[in-house]
Amino acid sequence: MKVRILKENVINQIAAGEVIENPASVVKELLENAIDAGAKKIQVDIRGGGFQLIRISDDGEGMDGDDALLCFERHGTSKIRTAEDLHALHSMGFRGEALASVCSISKIRLVTSMGTQATEVLATAGKILRKQTAARARGTTFEIRSLFFNTPARKRFQKSSTSSQTEITKVMTKMALSHPGIHLTLTAGEKPIFEVREGSLKERVEALLGKEFLNGAREMKEENFSGYVGSPLDARSNRSGQYLFINHRLVQCLPVSFAVEEGYGTRLSTRRYPTFVLFLEIPPDEIDVNVHPQKREVRLQNEEKVRAFVQQKVSALFAPSKSYVQPVAKPVDIPLVLPTKLQEDTPQTFFTEPELIAVGLFGKFYFAEKEEQLYLFDLAAASEQLFLTEENRNVTVPMLFPLHLDFAPHEAKKIREHLTEMEEFGISIRSFGENSFIVDALSPHIPETRVREFIEEWLGERGEVRKVFAKAASQKKKFSRYEAHELAEKILRICPDRPVYKPIREEDLERFITNQKVSASAT
Ligand code: ADP
Ligand code: MG
Repeated sequence: MKVRILKENVINQIAAGEVIENPASVVKELLENAIDAGAKKIQVDIRGGGFQLIRISDDGEGMDGDDALLCFERHGTSKIRTAEDLHALHSMGFRGEALASVCSISKIRLVTSMGTQATEVLATAGKILRKQTAARARGTTFEIRSLFFNTPARKRFQKSSTSSQTEITKVMTKMALSHPGIHLTLTAGEKPIFEVREGSLKERVEALLGKEFLNGAREMKEENFSGYVGSPLDARSNRSGQYLFINHRLVQCLPVSFAVEEGYGTRLSTRRYPTFVLFLEIPPDEIDVNVHPQKREVRLQNEEKVRAFVQQKVSALFAPSKSYVQPVAKPVDIPLVLPTKLQEDTPQTFFTEPELIAVGLFGKFYFAEKEEQLYLFDLAAASEQLFLTEENRNVTVPMLFPLHLDFAPHEAKKIREHLTEMEEFGISIRSFGENSFIVDALSPHIPETRVREFIEEWLGERGEVRKVFAKAASQKKKFSRYEAHELAEKILRICPDRPVYKPIREEDLERFITNQKVSASAT
């Protein structure tokens, strides 16, 4: 006989391989448990990127003495009882697997109380070592030490503690976005990393994704579909700015992401991905969350229906009547850009802002009409100009996930000598070790994916940071119609007297055609 049933301990370690990928997955599971326990305040402290210690304290309902032991059992859960319950889930957890898995590969201390007596449990590598009474206010604290200490092979595949900390910050950010009613803090060795207080979704989005995102975003306000859809200008070269929550669970559901992207229509250039924070509510019996051990993916029963709904709602947000009346940073005198004749004829137009009407996009040139006047914009020059205006300098938006860049020693030296200058012109960068740097805030004119390129451009050019960055900002890929239009509107308001666009009069066109005729007949 060769077939043997594995010991409980081994089974848990195997399960841990699926559920617990890294310290961030421990944080995710424990946060979900605290949320399920109705916590209003959750504090997370980590050491050594979570490998040394992860401590999570909540003020939720807590556990009694029996549950404090049962919770470490595989399939020990208070959240479902029957298979039918799986189709009516209202909790984040349900598999009863997380604590058993974490416990099998670490050293755990649990202190929990339902308000009266508290219980302390110590466990190591899946074995309960001790249970005793303790003192604690209502709530639960889990301390996970030495994660992966008994699975050295797994430990070897882990990333550095720095990147592990970044992963944990990401997880916290996602949880914070999906639960604005919960006060969350993250510290690393008591050093504060982030703190968000209980508030509205809007406040939370502003705190985590920045004012700039919110300013350009449109709000989705359907009964079962809400959140913020970012401006097409904030689109990125990957999907890292997309937060999709289905029934308040952060999930990957590509059909829905595609539907949102389709809703933007032609406002996005090819291979650009919009940013958004969206909450979709789907009746629990029309969704299967049990398709991935980490509950990361979901399957929809009526995928087509959901897709069509999402696309239609997003596309409605961009309906023309709404799309061109976005307020821009500072409204500037409009009369400046109007030809004198028009000013005399129609003084009342100074009080209502005339609309810029799209005519056509031709490469980097954009034609638009305003008050019966045709304008030609050089979009590349316009973006360079916009970069150089006072308005846009010094405005850097914190990045959710800071970039880590390495340079050669001579380049690093030059960068170190120009840190403040770079910050002033849109890249907030600081030293991080000998030849390494961290970039943690950016001007909205510098795409995250091009930061390195901007810096390299300047290293190679030896010019002023300001000019090189402005030039780099203008050397953009193709402009979408939408981007062109927003840019034209902005340039009219912000730098009305710069030579990056030109009014075209009927006589100009007349002359253009006549000159053509003259030169044609001359030959
Ligand atoms: P699941 O969340 O899938 O039920 P877990 O292994 O994550 O499985 O947790 C097991 C059980 O332990 C939960 O069902 C819950 O009853 C209890 N539990 C875990 N964490 C907490 C907490 N922070 N507060 C109260 N109870 C908790
Ligand atoms: Mg759980």
